[in-house]
Amino acid sequence: MTHLSRRRLLQGIAGASASSLILPAWAAKPKKKIGVALLGLGGYSRDLLAPGLQLTEYCELRGIVTGSPEKIPVWQKKYGIADKNVYSYETLPEIADNPDIDVVYVVTPTFLHKKFSLMAAEAGKHVWCEKPMAMTVGECQAIIDACNKNKVKLSLGYRLQHEPNTQTVIQFAETKPYGAIKKVKAEAGYAGRGGPADDWRMDRSKGGGALYDMGVYPINATRYSTGLEPLAITARFENDLPKIFTKADSTAIFDLEFPGGVIANCATSVTRNMNHLRVDCEKGWYELQPMQSYNGVKGQTSDGKKLDKTIAHQQAKQMDDDALAILNDTEVMAPGSDGLADIRVVEAALKSVETGKQVKI
Ligand code: NDP
Repeated sequence: MTHLSRRRLLQGIAGASASSLILPAWAAKPKKKIGVALLGLGGYSRDLLAPGLQLTEYCELRGIVTGSPEKIPVWQKKYGIADKNVYSYETLPEIADNPDIDVVYVVTPTFLHKKFSLMAAEAGKHVWCEKPMAMTVGECQAIIDACNKNKVKLSLGYRLQHEPNTQTVIQFAETKPYGAIKKVKAEAGYAGRGGPADDWRMDRSKGGGALYDMGVYPINATRYSTGLEPLAITARFENDLPKIFTKADSTAIFDLEFPGGVIANCATSVTRNMNHLRVDCEKGWYELQPMQSYNGVKGQTSDGKKLDKTIAHQQAKQMDDDALAILNDTEVMAPGSDGLADIRVVEAALKSVETGKQVKI
């Protein structure tokens, strides 16, 4: 059994949905709510995470950490955040003395994930870190080490692993209802990115471009849908807008080889729409389409089964699952090792693009 699948079997409570949670007799339903501080009040915090935190059962939005003073009164008014729970990036270490805050959720551009995750861990707070985890394997390891050293939990913002139809596909990797997995297709991308030039998403050194920003979706999907770790990659970029994408890739195409001859054909883009996960097996197939949207992830199997469970809010479910892992002291669903494994593939992809050759992972 692989590391990934063994972990999934062990997840038990933490892996169940907050709404459908079946707790064993010895596990009391937590009464306490985890206090969350969002760090970086950009689009994702504003549009998905803060609204999601209004729907959660086991955690709530209690604090903010921001470099934009003008956002403070807006957020305080909207979410009733107390003055004592407002921090700048400079005052962040003071959060160590604030018992209202249990978790710092790092939602900045990727090149800052390591810096702020380390500061949060050093302050003794649990760390939730957005995807992609960091810029390099070394940075990912530094985050893992800091969380271990400070005895705090670390969860990645891989919301899809909390989504019920995706969880069915993850279970199929374990139970193999259609026989041995032969081939995976994983594609995630959206059309529309093209500036402004100073946007961090247009600069690979800050975590921009297709491979970093969107590539971890197909990479993570190949790993969770097979339960295997890739052995080798061949990757190339296709630049749809070369005059605009001067510092980052707009589309990346890559093939992964897994143990047992399993192949994954992948693509990711910030200039092309694509949203499909398909797994071909010895005796059938299954797919999710869309595979990574904020809602409406759904799919089907070769024998006509619909993968069409619904949940109210993916991010709310993710944060409740992660809060329960803290309250019950169980394993988190998307740990640092999961984020690191994806960045290892990103690093190998960059090497393959540079050399034009297959690269061992
Ligand atoms: P935005 O650019 O909209 O916001 C980023 C925020 O980070 C800024 O508003 C700012 O907040 C803060 N920040 C701090 N330092 C900087 C800096 N030097 N440059 C720019 N911003 C800075 O990005 P998103 O909210 O879309 O993305 C943030 C993170 O969330 C990324 O890692 C991204 O990959 C991830 N994400 C995950 C998604 C998912 O589905 N899991 C979806 C979308 C994003 P402030 O003004 O408060 O300081």
